[in-house]
Amino acid sequence: MASQNQAVAPRPLQMGAKGAYIVRLLMVGDSSCGKTSLVLRFDQNVFSTKFVTTIGVDYRDKMVKIEGAPMRLQLWDTAGQERFRSLTSNFFGRADGFVLCYDISNRPSFDHVIGWMRDIKTRAPPDCDIVLCGNKSDLESDRVVQVDEGKALAEEYGVQFFETSALTGINVEGMFTALATTIKRRRIDEYESQNNSVAAGTASVGDASRGAASQTVNLGKDGGAEAAGPARSCC
Ligand code: GDP
Ligand code: MG
Repeated sequence: MASQNQAVAPRPLQMGAKGAYIVRLLMVGDSSCGKTSLVLRFDQNVFSTKFVTTIGVDYRDKMVKIEGAPMRLQLWDTAGQERFRSLTSNFFGRADGFVLCYDISNRPSFDHVIGWMRDIKTRAPPDCDIVLCGNKSDLESDRVVQVDEGKALAEEYGVQFFETSALTGINVEGMFTALATTIKRRRIDEYESQNNSVAAGTASVGDASRGAASQTVNLGKDGGAEAAGPARSCC
């Protein structure tokens, strides 16, 4: 997956009317692993124990500044149920990034990551970025998926990895920020450097920056992020 992505020239990010880059992020993963809760924690810093079934696709906007670049994160919160699958996967084709969630206290939700990855690979643009997110890290006593298993799977796919808790908030902002940063580096910095180098007739500069954009994002903010090694992502 990773090598295929690295061979793909990134598209430029779309610039919105208000001078911010538009970044479409899709929340995917099994029902009840915490996708809606992660969006609410990130957007409004709140948490509710109520489980409200997401019907089809919900949408929220969140403005952030990543390395000086204003970005409008469009958070598309999809329903995980099979019956909504064809509806939600229609959104895959326009995504810039995916938060692929599972619940660390629910083994089937982790087993189904493979299927979600397959969906992304077949339906999403090849230059999209993915973060694998093991949510509900606060439920340590109910844990059935070990941190190392999540890390190993993320490494296999060449994507970033975080364990988060929408309940405590740990790593939630860090995870979204890391994904947005990877997208910004690939779709703004790398795109610009490739196009500048083509204009200047020095194609090798683009190759060098491609490597730079593939570094693991250093978080710091939430502390102790479970970022798996090089974020080579994706499809
Ligand atoms: P979704 O179907 O993936 O959108 O899942 P929801 O966000 O609706 O969450 C499903 C249930 O899990 C709800 O009862 C939430 O309160 C709960 N939940 C979500 N995230 C966490 C978390 O990080 N820790 C714990 N303990 N519960 C969570
Ligand atoms: Mg939901």
